[in-house]
Amino acid sequence: MYTVAQLIGGVWGAGGEGGELVVHDPADGSPVSSAPVATADEVGKAVEATRGAAAEWAATAPAERAAALHRAADAVAAAADDLARATTAEMGKPLSDARGGVEAGIGTLRQYAELAPVRGGRTLHGGTHALDFMTPQPRGVVAAITPWNDPVAVSCGLLGAALVTGNVVLHKPSERAPATGWLLAKALDSALPPGVLSLLTGGPEVGAALAAQEVDVVAHVGSTATGRAIAAAAARTGAKVLLENGGSDPLVVDGDVDPVWAAGQAALGAFANAGQICVAVERIYVHRDVAEDFAQALVDRATQLRTGPGGDPRTELGPLVDRRHRDHVHGQVTAAVAQGARIRTGGTLPDGPGAFYPATVLTDCRHDMTVVREETFGPVAAIVAVDSFSEALRCAADSPYGLAATVLTGSMSHAQRAWRELPVGTVKVNAVFGGAPGGAAHPRRGSGHGFGYGPELLDEFTATKAVHIEAPGGGHW
Ligand code: NAD
Repeated sequence: MYTVAQLIGGVWGAGGEGGELVVHDPADGSPVSSAPVATADEVGKAVEATRGAAAEWAATAPAERAAALHRAADAVAAAADDLARATTAEMGKPLSDARGGVEAGIGTLRQYAELAPVRGGRTLHGGTHALDFMTPQPRGVVAAITPWNDPVAVSCGLLGAALVTGNVVLHKPSERAPATGWLLAKALDSALPPGVLSLLTGGPEVGAALAAQEVDVVAHVGSTATGRAIAAAAARTGAKVLLENGGSDPLVVDGDVDPVWAAGQAALGAFANAGQICVAVERIYVHRDVAEDFAQALVDRATQLRTGPGGDPRTELGPLVDRRHRDHVHGQVTAAVAQGARIRTGGTLPDGPGAFYPATVLTDCRHDMTVVREETFGPVAAIVAVDSFSEALRCAADSPYGLAATVLTGSMSHAQRAWRELPVGTVKVNAVFGGAPGGAAHPRRGSGHGFGYGPELLDEFTATKAVHIEAPGGGHW
């Protein structure tokens, strides 16, 4: 059992007067971690204390900050096994996936440590008597509010970029993964000056109290509803808001592709991490010519997945994060059936402990069904048969979200249409996951705004200042 402590103003174990929250292992229901809950007053004091460390950290040479982030990455690497085990225990994903998320986080910290000191401003061509330039400066106090579904990778991105660019940070990890957030904060804090990073734990009310504070940036990765609440709170304080939110990513299966291969891609996209990935495949528009073969092959894949606790190395499909979330996902499936969808496999609540939910394939879905319109965030593949590639693109584009999309096609002209026409941040052709290092995109509509990852995230955490310097009296220096 993990006993989580908060870090406020450089002091571990501070606060927690708001009570205690307990996280249960979603594989068997046993208690995993206990975390203090911050009061609104503690949140305010933490912001004040953190701001007290801002000037010195901002004035630290960029190369020194980068060296500290490298040391922080070393500390995270040393704690990698513990972090992966805590992730699996708290939110259920297979241990190898959890370890992959930790490795991704370490890679991101190192990437930011390398990139930040070499990203400069611009020299401007003013008069010869003057000096004109644009320079990035730290924004100040950053509130980072993160989710549970890939807790280390996501947190390392926001925290690493904010810290290395000279900001002080208050991190509020998800109430479903507080021990993972605590272990990460311990590793990072060991390499940073005291007070530069604070950790506050608790539920949505703690996040809301933090977002309402006079901070300079609120960076949120999580659901669209939360992102909107945070944007409304920040509108009152004037804080900059960075949002990486929900998605309902489409997969388009063209009429000319091998349906069995396409089903393999769909299974990977819909069932990895039990569908709890922001860019999971959620709705599938498949050409009628291959629809039945595709659906059958996807059912075959779904039924072959080995389900079990995330700690078992043979497990391919772990539990959902908790029973509350499982009820939500099952409710979406049940509603789809009531609207005419057909369950081809899965769709039933299993007996036994934990929050397991089977890989579920729904056919006979229509584009206007809630299961197609909403984010499902579970191992659910909703299939809509379409008559043409144009219809598939039209449906794929018609969504309240705009995170990412995948198109499987043998036609280069269809591939070109897809990336040009789909109003989403990322378009992938013939691979549900993947992309070159350093890629970053703007999510659209309900999926958020700003760069939530990639080198451009460094720019999000700095404010650019234009400077014009002349000698006194209009002369020369
Ligand atoms: P969530 O928004 O419910 O919670 C995320 C964080 O926000 C938690 O720390 C939570 O305590 C806090 N929070 C909740 N209500 C709040 C409020 N009113 N004010 C301030 N903070 C509040 O999201 P979740 O369930 O933890 O994560 C799943 C969601 O995250 C999915 O929608 C998924 O698509 C999204 N996600 C998006 C990305 C991306 O890059 N776009 C990445 C991972 C997850």
